[in-house]
Amino acid sequence: MQVYEWISNGPEETFVFAKKLASMLQENDLILLEGDLGAGKTTFTKGIAAGLGIRRTVNSPTFTIIKEYHGRLPLFHMDVYRIQDSYEDLGFDEYFEGGGVTIVEWSKMIQEQLPPDYLEVTITHQGDQIRKLEFNPKGQRYESLCKELFK
Ligand code: ADP
Ligand code: MG
Repeated sequence: MQVYEWISNGPEETFVFAKKLASMLQENDLILLEGDLGAGKTTFTKGIAAGLGIRRTVNSPTFTIIKEYHGRLPLFHMDVYRIQDSYEDLGFDEYFEGGGVTIVEWSKMIQEQLPPDYLEVTITHQGDQIRKLEFNPKGQRYESLCKELFK
């Protein structure tokens, strides 16, 4: 399976790239965001939200775990960092199949509860403003999404 790489030279570039991805998203799409604190996961999510036409400010949902926004499609933004037990079921399936776009930060914490197909995006620090974004599509839907995004 192909892995796609893209280098971002600043938060604005990450935002714009995510916004472009958002224009291609469909209902029940799932994006997993991996990367250390400060990598740019929430910045990426803000771009997705803008691309979905969401006007409300998107912040890291660390204390609430799941936040819901309404745009062209609903956006379910999860940050599962604080989950203690990876089997703790907060009704994730209802979000994954809820007709919106779901973004999960720190998805490794709920690995056992994830559906088989998703787009995993791993963001790594390369310098002060530079980030490497690695796109790992799992399943047909996300392979064609990446082909479209990187063509
Ligand atoms: P996370 O959610 O992964 O903890 P945030 O998106 O909240 O990360 O924070 C990323 C921080 O890094 C922001 O302060 C952002 O301005 C900064 N930053 C610097 N360069 C970049 C870049 N190329 N892409 C994304 N964020 C960047
Ligand atoms: Mg965050």
